[in-house]
Amino acid sequence: MGEVRWEGKQGRLEIYYDDLTGRWYALQSVEAEIDRVESAKRAYADLGVVNIITAWIEDERQCVAFSGKQLLSDWWYWTEKISEHQSELKRVNGRNTSKRLRKLYRRRQQRFRHAINTIVRRFVGLCCERGVGEIVVGDVSRIRENNDKGNKINAMIHNFWSFRYIIERLRTTAENFGIGVKLVGESGTSSRCPWCGSENVRRRKRLFKCLSCGIEAHRDVVGVLNIARLHGDGSNGVLAHPLLLRVKEGAEVKADATPMSMKPSEARITPL
Ligand SMILES: [Zn+2]
Repeated sequence: MGEVRWEGKQGRLEIYYDDLTGRWYALQSVEAEIDRVESAKRAYADLGVVNIITAWIEDERQCVAFSGKQLLSDWWYWTEKISEHQSELKRVNGRNTSKRLRKLYRRRQQRFRHAINTIVRRFVGLCCERGVGEIVVGDVSRIRENNDKGNKINAMIHNFWSFRYIIERLRTTAENFGIGVKLVGESGTSSRCPWCGSENVRRRKRLFKCLSCGIEAHRDVVGVLNIARLHGDGSNGVLAHPLLLRVKEGAEVKADATPMSMKPSEARITPL
């Protein structure tokens, strides 16, 4: 029997049987009242695959990026297991499906969701610590410029990736902390320099270079600062590269080594 997390008026009780695990589950909804955080401070977030969330919180000197590398490699591990089992099924008894196969699919999805939830909770926790009242998120209804991500990642995006799920988790988790979430359009967030406003820019893979002011920046930072420029009060003097964060199971958020091509003088990091 699980514990009840929220106190409040209890709503419908749903009971269902899961034939894959052979267990019964009960879901009880509870109405809880949560006060909205009264703060004009905003956080801006850009969603991606290599970095799941890149974010800038107003007044901070550096963006933070939550790496998706571990999540991606885990996903590939289970995908390989799935395809091994699939070919075995065909070879041995000419079948396309089995209980084990369905379990493997579910395992992959559960691990993905668990990793996303961990990242989202860490991000929202950070927003909470910094007194953020609203998170402004670029709505990724279509994947931008995915031609440089390589075949593996493209295959994953087309077959599996769910930004909807990430956005939904972000919204629910933030609401539980009394923080609002606003979805905004993403158009034009990568074609302009957020430091000087010039459109004379060059983009190559993860890097962005402005030919007018000369800044070289990480593309996800450009994306998120442009969201701030278009949907907030803008940003000034924010560093061009994010502080990379890796979220490990059950561990605290750890900062990676100095982000790439960052000058040593700029490498001061605000500890989380
Ligand atoms: Zn510029």
